Order: sequence, then C-alpha cells, then structure tokens
Amino acid sequence: MEMVERLANLIEKKSRIFVLTGAGISTESGIPDFRSPQGLYSKYPQDMFDIQFLKNNPGGFYKIFTELLNVILSAEPNYGHILLSKLEGLNKILLIATQNIDGLHQMAGSQKIAELHGNAKRFFCEKCNNEYNYTTVLELLKTIEVPLCSCGGIIRPDVVFFGEPLKEESLRVSFEMAMASDLFIVMGSSLVVYPAASLPLVALEEKIPLVIINKGETQYDPYCTLKLEGPIGTVSFEVMKIMGL
Ligand code: NAD
Repeated sequence: MEMVERLANLIEKKSRIFVLTGAGISTESGIPDFRSPQGLYSKYPQDMFDIQFLKNNPGGFYKIFTELLNVILSAEPNYGHILLSKLEGLNKILLIATQNIDGLHQMAGSQKIAELHGNAKRFFCEKCNNEYNYTTVLELLKTIEVPLCSCGGIIRPDVVFFGEPLKEESLRVSFEMAMASDLFIVMGSSLVVYPAASLPLVALEEKIPLVIINKGETQYDPYCTLKLEGPIGTVSFEVMKIMGL
C-alpha cells in the first residue's frame, strides 16, 4: 500500500491525534525554515534568535525581524494547515503543539493549539509587560530603530528566544496531551530544538504510533511507524482526497 494511503488509514482509525509542527509546515506558505538550503540560517546570522542578539544589538535585530514579520503577515495557510483544521472539525485532534511563531494554524481555523515558541505578531514591553500588537510596532518602526514603550522599556516580540525557557503551561499541556494521544504526527520539524524535540519520546515510551512527515532525516526515523518525506502540502492534499475531506 502507498505510504499516503497508510497514513490516511491510520488517521481514519484514530480519534486522539497529537500533532507536533515545525517550520517545515509553513515553507510552502512562503515562510523560510531555519535549516533548509534556502532557510533563514543561509541568509541571517545563526544567533539572530538568541536573546543576547536582541539585548546587544536591538536595532540590528529589529531590521531582520521586521523583514521576517512582513513575510509572515503576507503568508496564507497551505494544505498542511488546512488538513489539521479539517481533522479538528472531525473531532480527531487532541492538540497541535507548534514550534512556529507564524499563527498560520489559527488562520486555517484550528483552535486546539499550544504555541511552544510564542507568536511573532504579539509584542510586549520587557520592563512593564504592557502588550502591543504588530500594527502599533510597525508604525513605531517607521520613525525609530527600536520600538520603545511609554515607560521607556524596549518592546520585544512575544517569542521564545534561544537561551530562554519555553512557555511552561504550553509545554505541560503538550506532554499531557501527547501522553493521552492514540496517534502522534510530526510535520516539518528537524527535531533538533529542545525541549520540543523530546516530545516524540512520549510516543515511543507509551507505544503510540509515531508518524513523521519531514523532508530529510530526523533522529526518530529509525523508531517511527511511518516516515514520509513530503512535501507536506502534497501529502496533506492526498490524505484529504482519500478521506473525502
Ligand atoms: P527546522 O528549520 O529545524 O526544520 C524544518 C524541517 O522541515 C527541515 O528538516 C526541513 O527539511 C523540513 N521541511 C521544510 N519544508 C518542508 C516541506 N514542504 N515538507 C516536508 N518537510 C519540510 O525547524 P524546526 O524544527 O521547526 O525548529 C526550528 C525553530 O524555528 C522553531 O523553534 C521555530 O520557532 C523556528 N521557526 C519558525 C518559523 C515559522 O514560524 N514558520 C520559521 C522559521 C523558524
């Protein structure tokens, strides 16, 4: 049987699906990932998402981040996001734990989402925690290199930088839901960024079928039930066709 058919059959039989998504689910929406040949690491300094980069060079950080934010703002969900939203409509999704900061799952209509690394469209003041939306920040950036709060603090994106702890509640719920799932699907992650990359261990320990849809190898490939190379959009479209969605 074809791999995609096997995936559709598995999905049809299961009702508590846990999904871990990474930057690879959004590349077909035009948002580059980190580690592919055209990824962000090929264009920008590798430490651009280190908290020290923002602290030492906020102006330089905002130059890069504004570019990325504008790409995110013009992106639309692809068949990968749409499949997951349709599966939620069928009551099959327990949770989508996403490492992405682009908000495309929400835009596709999914609601059961844990944003492990935050969201690039939200901002807050690092001094007084006042929240700002991206329109205000983009407006401020027209006249100033680094957006400042009325209290004088630097306004920063609500994303988790390397060197910062993950959103604790999102991570706790993710482990809990992964444990309670009957199918674990990884979509578009190189599974090298921790602690998100330790989530598939739950599937292996609990003997939950693990499906990986990812271009390129991951450390969990030898242990998974099914590995598909993608592209995620094409695989998702085929799954929807087989399932009549
Ligand atoms: P990653 O770049 O390490 O891995 C992405 C993986 O997806 C790669 O193995 C790549 O080969 C694969 N891939 C790319 N396009 C694919 C496709 N169409 N079909 C199948 N596979 C595809 O990204 P990661 O594992 O998510 O971890 C890196 C960090 O990057 C995350 O923490 C995330 O916060 C951040 N990030 C997010 C975005 C976003 O929000 N869209 C974009 C870039 C980086």
